Amino acid sequence: MSCRLVDGVAVPDAVGGHRALDFCNTRAGWGAPQPREYLTGARALGVWVREAGLLDAAQVAPLVGGHLAAGTERAALERVWLLREALYACLVGRATPAQWRVLEAEAAAARAASRLVAVAGGDRARTVGAQDRPSPAGGRAAWVLGVLPLAPLDHAVLAIAAAADQFVTSPLAGCVAACPGAGCGWLFADPRRRRRWCSMAVCGNRAKARRHADRRGSVSAGPALRSAQGQWGVPAGARPGLLAAVVAGVGAEPGGQQASQQKDH
Ligand SMILES: [Zn+2]
Repeated sequence: MSCRLVDGVAVPDAVGGHRALDFCNTRAGWGAPQPREYLTGARALGVWVREAGLLDAAQVAPLVGGHLAAGTERAALERVWLLREALYACLVGRATPAQWRVLEAEAAAARAASRLVAVAGGDRARTVGAQDRPSPAGGRAAWVLGVLPLAPLDHAVLAIAAAADQFVTSPLAGCVAACPGAGCGWLFADPRRRRRWCSMAVCGNRAKARRHADRRGSVSAGPALRSAQGQWGVPAGARPGLLAAVVAGVGAEPGGQQASQQKDH
């Protein structure tokens, strides 16, 4: 679980292998008491949808610029969170019938708002508008969202729903794994069943440091030091840089980071 700042918004790194999985990864700490939320408002939603390649800059401009009708933002966010919760549960095999219905309803809405058109190609054709509008010369057809006029927030939600629809109906949906990193739970496609972490550089190294610290602690630490570790949850023997990353990863806010800086969580 790592992210970067884009236009002042923390955008999770795309490690899932599909936009539907990366959408699930806009929350970290699945199952944890204090999960980390990345989709905190319409602006964050707009930036993420654009960075994920689901919509283009013009289509998300009202979201990123804050030009929305009053009262629409909260409702749209709750809809997005509900869809994400349902999608995550479905992909890890823990969906309730109600969650399946949420996913089904949003996927159906995305399909209803799409039109089958001839397109120039590219895997973005399923959800993106402008460049994929009907082309008389096109030899391939695809369901395209955005041919019909949509309100910006609806467009963003339905673009996500279309990506979710595309993924859950693909063979790759049976090859999803969840990162076991502390406070993570990010999803990624793992068709070869060889990958354990969302990112070896972050969650993998954290776990490695913890194992190393546990080994050192069990050999050399006295009762007082072991007690301190238990109190603060800080691994003994961690290198300063890694220790800083571990501490910064808990409750860190994106505002204090540099634009191009990678950080945990
Ligand atoms: Zn992870």
